[in-house]
Amino acid sequence: MALVGIGAPWEHQAAAAELAVAGRSVVVATGTASGKSLAYLLPVLSGLVSGEPATALYLAPTKALAADQLRSVRALGLPDVRAATYDGDTPPAERDWVRAHANLVLTNPDMLHRGMLPGHPRWAAYLRRLRYVVVDECHAYRGVFGSHVAQVLRRLARVCDRYGAAPTFLLASATVSEPAASAGRLVGVPVSEIIDDASPRGATEFALWEPPMSDLVGEREMLVRRSATAEAADLLAHLVADGTRTLAFVRSRRGAEAVALAAQRALREAVPELADRVAAYRAGYLPEERRALEVALQRGDLLGLAATSALELGVDVAGLDAVVLAGFPGRVASVWQQAGRAGRAGRSSLAVLVASDDPLDSYLVHHPEALFGRPVEATVLDPDNPYVLGPHLCAAAAELPLTESDLDRFGPATDGVLTKLVDRGLLRRRPAGWFWTRRERACDLADIRSVGGPPIRLVEASTGRLLGTVDNSAAHSTVHEGAVYLHQGESYVVRSLDLAEDVALVEPDDPDYSTSARDLTDIAVVEALKTEQCPEVCLHFGTVDVTRQVVSYLRRRLLTGEILGEVGLDLPARRLRTRAVWWTATAALLERAGLDREDVAGAAHAAEHASIGLLPLFATCDRWDIGGVSMAMHPDTGRTTVFVYDGSPGGAGFAERGYAAGRSWLKATQEAIAGCGCDSGCPSCVQSPKCGNGNSPLNKAGASRLLRAVVEELGPAPA
Ligand SMILES: [Zn+2]
Ligand SMILES: [Zn+2]
Repeated sequence: MALVGIGAPWEHQAAAAELAVAGRSVVVATGTASGKSLAYLLPVLSGLVSGEPATALYLAPTKALAADQLRSVRALGLPDVRAATYDGDTPPAERDWVRAHANLVLTNPDMLHRGMLPGHPRWAAYLRRLRYVVVDECHAYRGVFGSHVAQVLRRLARVCDRYGAAPTFLLASATVSEPAASAGRLVGVPVSEIIDDASPRGATEFALWEPPMSDLVGEREMLVRRSATAEAADLLAHLVADGTRTLAFVRSRRGAEAVALAAQRALREAVPELADRVAAYRAGYLPEERRALEVALQRGDLLGLAATSALELGVDVAGLDAVVLAGFPGRVASVWQQAGRAGRAGRSSLAVLVASDDPLDSYLVHHPEALFGRPVEATVLDPDNPYVLGPHLCAAAAELPLTESDLDRFGPATDGVLTKLVDRGLLRRRPAGWFWTRRERACDLADIRSVGGPPIRLVEASTGRLLGTVDNSAAHSTVHEGAVYLHQGESYVVRSLDLAEDVALVEPDDPDYSTSARDLTDIAVVEALKTEQCPEVCLHFGTVDVTRQVVSYLRRRLLTGEILGEVGLDLPARRLRTRAVWWTATAALLERAGLDREDVAGAAHAAEHASIGLLPLFATCDRWDIGGVSMAMHPDTGRTTVFVYDGSPGGAGFAERGYAAGRSWLKATQEAIAGCGCDSGCPSCVQSPKCGNGNSPLNKAGASRLLRAVVEELGPAPA
């Protein structure tokens, strides 16, 4: 199967610049990491408008990317461009200079939210002339984080409006489906799209690789497949032994190191002189170290490099002979981005996706058309989520009192949310509008990287050093006692989690296993917002109350995935009001699916697990962003019901996307189950690593029949 290569982005950039100069917001969607080329657009634009004293703002999802871009811009040596980063690392003295003199400010949404917008009077001169806002890597703004950033950008446009400026948005995205629609939802104004036509650059053979069953026994005595990491290490060693310059993408840094080590070990036996031409690459390296590795690989001094996806953002390695992906990287767009590192003009190259033990991976290796023949996922975000919108309305009111004329800008939910904020005493309604009258900083109400309660602080136990924070809603499952936690590429083990103090004490440690938490969940329907009714099946989207309790965690060996044991945890249950998609089946449908009474619970449970695994194919989530519940008879529906819900308060848009793609999603789920070669269920189809019921009961064959009957009953999509 041939993969079309990626051409030079220049023409698209030029076309985008033309639109932007005419004042039309535009998104450029390209197959490769778009950040690098975009920087060149800014000076181009500044040059175009050099007659006027215009300014531009560049937003990157990470400080590191903004710093990289600053280096690229400065390297151009354009005298009229006064570029500077403005972020948490900028010294106070320099901040004054940036505000007074820079005409290109590179920052991140966090700084815009906490620094620039609340302090907008000090930026008046800059904002008054703000002509362009560049949003780089905009596909990174998805889910709850994306919804927050969408509201921060609405606040920016509103403040600019006050200064008489109406900046044009220029967005750069990886390939996603409907880029203009996603970008428009993000920035809140209509956006035109320019899509890279991916002109060929040498043919890339693309292989989909399903590891064989191993002799390792997993849960419920079921055999499991050989791990993607172990297979990737073998592939890397073989390719390097043939003199092929190969880059292997592995999900975790520890995994990348394990792949590099295993490949070196294999080479030491087969071709000893090549063993030290394989290395690991990780996010923690200094820029010089990264550069040295990139150059070594580019020149061929290094033949094999195992990297984490940190490489995906703005780093310069291309034109390799082969790329190995250990496990589906989570998004179809990422597959193209990573595979796009292979291929040079006039030479053939190879990309291999090795399936990990996950229903989505196993679906993809059996359904190449899902990778090659369909548009990539849509970027999902939901700026109307009241849990996101509320704090930003407070922040906006603190920046400038809100008036009736602002209601449209913040979306249809604004009116209702404002009333609640007034009732809670956070805003005051006066004839002139809504006012923030409290003493604290309104922007502190929104932590744009998380929702739901105060963040949990990660503290190094021996030194008392604060390492960072973890989302409150994720804390029980990620920083419970005994958890292995990766923080900025470094590995820690959690000593204790103090819920009263919101602190997790950790120690640096690098065990050869990973941990995954398991939870028990209950769900109650609050309200169905959308319903599609067939005689024997109903599909719903709506509001639910989820009660979730993390009860234990599993330890798995890194290279093989072997389960080392399960450890019980004593954590309280948590309540969550969120959004869910759910479907119900009548007794008649169960009969049609040939399910006996005692088969139903296992069939629904297996269908739930696999459908959670497949949702990321339709929405930009991973399976840890969502959860599920299934019951042979749910008290709120009176029928067999399977729920899949958004894991953060108020929802993130994933369940809604599942509802919209209901037929295709459930059909793909059925095919994933039916296509797995295992006997009666394995991690590649219906077993879930986070099941609080220990993956019991599960009925693989029953789930396949049930889903087939459900999809048949739903029929073709209404026109
Ligand atoms: Zn299976
Ligand atoms: Zn389960």
